[in-house]
Amino acid sequence: MEKALRFLTSGYDADIDVVLNDALFSVDYSEMVIVKDIDFYSLCEHHMLPFFGKCHVAYIPRQQVIGLSKIPRLVDVFARRLQIQERMTNQIAETIREKINPLGVAVVCEATHLCMSMRGVEKQNSFAITSAMLGAFRDNARTRMEFLELVKVRGLVAESSMPAAAGLVCVND
Ligand SMILES: [Zn+2]
Repeated sequence: MEKALRFLTSGYDADIDVVLNDALFSVDYSEMVIVKDIDFYSLCEHHMLPFFGKCHVAYIPRQQVIGLSKIPRLVDVFARRLQIQERMTNQIAETIREKINPLGVAVVCEATHLCMSMRGVEKQNSFAITSAMLGAFRDNARTRMEFLELVKVRGLVAESSMPAAAGLVCVND
């Protein structure tokens, strides 16, 4: 159990720069880059029960891109901690902004929380969606819509705007 917990919380010790391992490249490309359906597994910090699902990441480069295979590793860094889904979503987006200063970053996470489904009989099929929209994704409804249509978040009709936060599922009880 100790070994498992060390692994599941190994994100605290991860060095982002080591994870990215210089996989930042200067390119002349300014279209949207999307990595969708990244599986993640995390633990809620209130109950230490798993929450897990898919994470979709997009950004619009200014000068630099991140090696595509590094994006799921970045998600793992923040998922392998005691988390709340909202914070994890923001941390992924903010880290990409910090590292490559893109024109915009969007992160959407959809997850099932065992602290909901194991404890509440009527909530077994519910899931939570959280999003972080920075730069162009925040300012430009068409950009945001293009992203949401491309990732097709389940249960979410991609309209011109995203619900501010569909999360807040892991209540402190
Ligand atoms: Zn919880």
